[in-house]
Amino acid sequence: MAGAIVQPLGFEYAYGGKVNVMSLSQLARTIKESATLKLNETAALLRDKGEPIIHLGGGEPKSKAPIDAVINCVAVLNTGEIRYTAPDGIPALKKAIIRYTDEHYKKLVSAHNVIASGGAKQALMVLLHAILDPKEEVIFPAPYWVSYPEMIKLAGGIPVPVTAEDGTFCPTVREIADVVSSYTKAIILNSPNNPSGAVYSKEFVQEMVEFCEKKSIYLIMDDIYNRLVFDGKTAANCYEFAKLPLEQSKLVVINGVSKMYAMTGFRIGWAIANESLIAAMATIQSQQTSGPSSPAQWAAVGALNGVQSSVEGLRVMLQNNRNVMVDRLKAFDGVNVHVPDGTFYCFPDFSAYMKDSQKLSNLLLEKVRVVTVPGKEFGFEGHLRLSYCGAIKDITEGLDRIKWALDPNSANELYLGDRKLVREWL
Ligand code: PMP
Repeated sequence: MAGAIVQPLGFEYAYGGKVNVMSLSQLARTIKESATLKLNETAALLRDKGEPIIHLGGGEPKSKAPIDAVINCVAVLNTGEIRYTAPDGIPALKKAIIRYTDEHYKKLVSAHNVIASGGAKQALMVLLHAILDPKEEVIFPAPYWVSYPEMIKLAGGIPVPVTAEDGTFCPTVREIADVVSSYTKAIILNSPNNPSGAVYSKEFVQEMVEFCEKKSIYLIMDDIYNRLVFDGKTAANCYEFAKLPLEQSKLVVINGVSKMYAMTGFRIGWAIANESLIAAMATIQSQQTSGPSSPAQWAAVGALNGVQSSVEGLRVMLQNNRNVMVDRLKAFDGVNVHVPDGTFYCFPDFSAYMKDSQKLSNLLLEKVRVVTVPGKEFGFEGHLRLSYCGAIKDITEGLDRIKWALDPNSANELYLGDRKLVREWL
């Protein structure tokens, strides 16, 4: 019959012509969408409609990519010959990563210890696929980056977040040790931390390195923010505390160009680990994506080998933005703010205003058009993640709007452009 669509046997059709959700895998049905990427979408849609959105939910610096990155990338594009590369990265990028590791970690590694991936996210994902057997557990402190639980589940593992009993942003080694079992395969530490901005102490990192060596557990250091640290402090270098030689070590360092060079869209990250693990990760990556995009890899070579002033420029700008945000937050009665030592996030406790962070975040978006990320997404209720990687004007105006929305003592009216808002919800 002309025009008839013959469905394969078992193909389930819901009303309205959409594939029934039951046709999707169990895995697909259990994985949550990235809350932060979803918020970016919502913010963009509202902005397109002309809404005066202030985005304090973002996870990327607004500065331009370093010129050396752009020049390198354009040079490759100009050849017109953009080909597959080795699945674990071009030699020039591996060399640049080796040099970076030597300079910033005082650790000499070889090309066999390096894999370049499509962002730190893919480096983490192939790592988890390479080490996890079904139902093995991965421990990480809360608050944590939204993606860890979902990535662990994607790789067949079980996420085990650990929250400090004293309410701080870093549990003790004892609290982490208490949840270690025979199923524990790895521990992930992210310092400076997304979302809290906390930089874990050197003593804590040292004890974790020693603990993982003793227990033979993988220790994954997600160091993606390690250059964005304030007030003369530095993030711990895990290699300083490692006693085992790299080839016998289960220590893995993850990093990338996204944050420090403001190159999120290029999608280049990497992992440093023992040779056999890197080989396994490269095999998985070769079947997954055949390796990262060639122009993006050349851009990362440019960033890593080029003039480094943009990193310091970004760091200083973020430190200044952090100060502005923290000062404004301190003017809120009842908001408890811990000064972030790094990253571009602040994670104040708003529970005095509203315990449910999802409801609070929705209220702020709906009423005063400010995008924030609910702490619940990071395993920490009552808090909101506010990012200060945008313009100062957005930070000050965003916080003024939030204060107006929540503080019963502020003026009853607020103007957003020519729209007059009346606070009728308190
Ligand atoms: N780790 C953490 C803690 C992050 O915040 C992010 C980005 N939001 C990543 C890894 C992934 O970065 P990339 O863009 O390199 O995939």
